[in-house]
Amino acid sequence: MENIFGLSINDISNLIAPFDVPRFRAKQIAEWMYRKGASSFDGMTNLSKDLRKKLSDNFFIGRPSLIDKWDSSDDETTKFLLGFKDGVAVECVLMRHDYGNSVCISTQAGCSMGCRFCASTIHGVERDLLAGEMLSEVMYIDEYLKTTDEKAKVDTLVLMGSGEPMMNYDNVISFMRLIHEPYTLNMSYRSMTVSTAGIIDKIDSLANEDIPVSLAISLHAPNDDIRDLIMPVNKKYGVDDLIAAGKRYGDKTKRRVTYEYILIAGLNDSDDNAKELAKRLRGQLASVNLIPVNSVMKSDFQRPSKDRVNKFCAILNERHVAATVRREMGSDIAAACGQLRNRHIDCKS
Ligand code: SF4
Repeated sequence: MENIFGLSINDISNLIAPFDVPRFRAKQIAEWMYRKGASSFDGMTNLSKDLRKKLSDNFFIGRPSLIDKWDSSDDETTKFLLGFKDGVAVECVLMRHDYGNSVCISTQAGCSMGCRFCASTIHGVERDLLAGEMLSEVMYIDEYLKTTDEKAKVDTLVLMGSGEPMMNYDNVISFMRLIHEPYTLNMSYRSMTVSTAGIIDKIDSLANEDIPVSLAISLHAPNDDIRDLIMPVNKKYGVDDLIAAGKRYGDKTKRRVTYEYILIAGLNDSDDNAKELAKRLRGQLASVNLIPVNSVMKSDFQRPSKDRVNKFCAILNERHVAATVRREMGSDIAAACGQLRNRHIDCKS
């Protein structure tokens, strides 16, 4: 049996070609799956009984089931642990902002990148997620929102959960093209942000895809000496080359690049670190998102004081590099990506 969820109209059309049905049937099937939330072929009432039986005999609609859900005490954040048919579980997060509903999805189950401050990488990578599986994370949350308010929807999307999107590049691109389609969630590319630890050749590829998504680069250090300590990827793609790739992306797409910077007490949070960072980024169409480190199991990193965070931010802004401190959301429900999935894996083992 083949999973039909995640296929484009064109792909569905090719798949059902042997059934000798008109091409518009593929559009109807897509609309049932992606607009009306169908999880089986039985209810697709505008298809003939014969076609529904053929579809059920050959294909299934692979959507995840809810394993667990957590709501933050302020009701702004809801975290979902979703499970796929093969037992793989992934996290996705709904954040309710003043400006709309934002969803953060996983692009891989786990991660192989080994960033020392990150919970997602503790168990390594289990597997890549398919385009349809990423779409199903967003759709799950979109449908969840509609259970309380039928007009509510997912407004913005960040690919910033577990996984390195650039290590699952083809599926990630297919997913973004799919969720942009009018027969799915019709989401604009400008509402999407891809985050990367810094796979430079893929940043350049993304710039040439002609899809104007925003780019977030996990920088977390002003120089190679510090970045080498916390991000193994830096051995291959150093800070100078990475910032140059960010500049190329901004120049090509005219989209502002965000540099994510996790502040870790005593490691990368000094005045000198801020000045060095400002020097590197000055003049670039970029902004810096400062994130005081989250307590990750098996890590001894400490977060800097509030004063230190604010001083670091002020030094950047004084030097004309736009910087803000990320508002913390969902800290009481283990907000750092991967923590809930890890708990699930640890419980199973
Ligand atoms: S920060 Fe991102 S790239 Fe690094 S280990 Fe975590 S999920 Fe992977």
